[in-house]
Amino acid sequence: MVLRRKRNPLFTIAALAVGVAVILSGCAAEEDVEASGSPSPSPTVSPSPSPTPSPSPSPTPSPTEEQEPEPTQDDTDGRPQASNPRGYDIDTPSSITVVVSKTRPLLDVEYEPETVPSTVHSVNGQPLHPDANEALAAMNRDVTAATGTGFVLCSGYRSYWYQHDVYNNFVNSHGQEAADRTSARPGHSEHQLGLAADIMGEGQGCALGDAYTNTASGQWVNENAWQYGFILRYPDGLQGIVGYHYEPWHWRYVGEDVARDMHEGGYDTLEEYFGLPNAPDYL
Ligand SMILES: [Zn+2]
Repeated sequence: MVLRRKRNPLFTIAALAVGVAVILSGCAAEEDVEASGSPSPSPTVSPSPSPTPSPSPSPTPSPTEEQEPEPTQDDTDGRPQASNPRGYDIDTPSSITVVVSKTRPLLDVEYEPETVPSTVHSVNGQPLHPDANEALAAMNRDVTAATGTGFVLCSGYRSYWYQHDVYNNFVNSHGQEAADRTSARPGHSEHQLGLAADIMGEGQGCALGDAYTNTASGQWVNENAWQYGFILRYPDGLQGIVGYHYEPWHWRYVGEDVARDMHEGGYDTLEEYFGLPNAPDYL
C-alpha cells in the first residue's frame, strides 16, 4: 500500500510535544500501524446463508476457498465480521457506530473525519467530531451542575500521520516489540474517528489514570455517560475482548441509541453487542 504523506505542521509539533505524554500515559495503546497481512478468520459467521444477489464484483475466485456463501465478507479485508450487526453500520469510517480495534483497522486507513474545535477545554488543542463534541459539552455542563466539577479533554482527534509519527518514534527508540506493547499502530485507533475522548477532571492534569473516575464528578460520568451517547470502550478486566487494559478515561461516542441499548441490555463492549469475535490482539 502506498501512503501519501501529508502533514499539518501543527501535528508535527504536537506529535513531538504531546506524543511523549500520550505514550507515557498508556492511552497511545489504542493506535496501530498497518495490518501486516490479513488472514481471514471468521469464527462466528452468520448462520443465515441468504444468497441475496449482491452487486459485489467477486474478484479472482480462489479454488481452495470454501464455498460458504458469506455475502458481506468481500470488502472488509478478511476481518472478523459481525454475526448480527443490528442494522448499524460498523464498517464505514464515518459511521458513528463503526467498530475499530486491533482486528478491525479502518477500511480507509488515512480516513480524516470532519472535526470542530472542542467546546470542552482541549488541553492539547485536539478537536472532535461535531456529534461527539456536542454530546461531550452537554455532559460536561451537566456533571458540573450536578457535582460542581467538570472535566477537560486530554485527547480527541488524532490523525493517521500523527499516530504514525508517535508510533515510529517509539519503534526507533525502543524497538517494535516494546512499541506494540505501549504505543499502537495508526489506522486502528478510535481517536482517528474524532469520536473518542480521553478526559480527566478539572485541575487533575492529563497523566491519564484512575484519578478522575474516583471522584464524585467521575462517578457521575460513569453512571450517566450512556445518556449522552458515550460508552467506556475499555472496561476493567475485559482486555481479552477489547484488546486493551482498563482505560477509565477513554470514552467513545456511539450515539444515544446504541449507548442506551447497551446500557439497558447489559452489554459492556461493542464486540459483545454487535456479536463480533474478541479482539485481543492484532491479526
Ligand atoms: Zn483514548
